[in-house]
Amino acid sequence: MAEKVRKSEEEWRKELSPRQYHILREKGTEPAFAGELNTNEKRGVYRCAACGEDLFSSDTKFDSGSGWPSFYLPISKENIVEKTDRSLFMTRTEVLCAKCGGHLGHVFDDGPDPTGLRYCVNSASLKFEETDKKKE
Ligand code: FE
Repeated sequence: MAEKVRKSEEEWRKELSPRQYHILREKGTEPAFAGELNTNEKRGVYRCAACGEDLFSSDTKFDSGSGWPSFYLPISKENIVEKTDRSLFMTRTEVLCAKCGGHLGHVFDDGPDPTGLRYCVNSASLKFEETDKKKE
């Protein structure tokens, strides 16, 4: 199991932008179509904006029309934690970074094949790194 990252809220507040802090640490949600990664179609890796853990690959990203970056599979199930979320009068499944506990978004069961899952993730929770095309 990967080593966990634990920091005080004060430390996170210093390291993250106000928007990232609100989403990752206070379980906020960015407005639909507002995040810069929603329409990103480049090939690469999406990492946790707080701790850098590998979370999603562009290979599993799809346009869900929801306004948030959407993936049908994480890079590894061990890198994320799924938790029942009963806020806002709904029962949803929250998705968190397993390494730092940062809030990423939610997972729904209306995604495409082959998993039928839709990991709906805030752009602010992610840091994208484009794959070096020369290596492919
Ligand atoms: Fe993290």
